[in-house]
Amino acid sequence: MNEISEETITINTENGVEILQNDFVLALTGYKPNFTFLEKIGVEFSKDEKKIPSYNEETMETNIKGVYLAGVICGGMETHKWFIENSRIHAKMIVQNILRS
Ligand SMILES: Cc1cc2nc3c(=O)[nH]c(=O)nc-3n(C[C@H](O)[C@H](O)[C@H](O)COP(=O)(O)OP(=O)(O)OC[C@H]3O[C@@H](n4cnc5c(N)ncnc54)[C@H](O)[C@@H]3O)c2cc1C
Repeated sequence: MNEISEETITINTENGVEILQNDFVLALTGYKPNFTFLEKIGVEFSKDEKKIPSYNEETMETNIKGVYLAGVICGGMETHKWFIENSRIHAKMIVQNILRS
């Protein structure tokens, strides 16, 4: 896609550039978590394309003591794995672990 304007989108096709009318546009582009900061501080990730972070599934603590993960980042590139519904529990697990230590 080249451009989205209020009433059209401009795309590249085999036959050249085409302009299509639109009522609205859903940008289903997917997304990638920001791994850079966690990598910089030493959190380990699986070496495959999934980039699953290293953390204790019972406490959510990573391989770096005192650094916890919650939410979508826990699935690495598998961003379909953790949603709001099933990751709210992470906060509770983290707080419980901090209170225990
Ligand atoms: C189109 C779409 C529809 C969805 N629909 C649903 C739904 O109906 N129900 C549901 O339960 N879930 C849904 N989800 C999933 C849900 O949005 C995510 O599970 C949830 O937002 C994950 O929250 P999070 O806090 O883990 O990550 P994010 O919401 O991605 O938050 C991470 C935050 O960290 C910030 N950040 C990144 N790097 C840094 C850094 N170095 N320093 C400071 N800040 C940083 C980012 O800017 C971002 O604000 C949907 C997701 C998408 C994309």
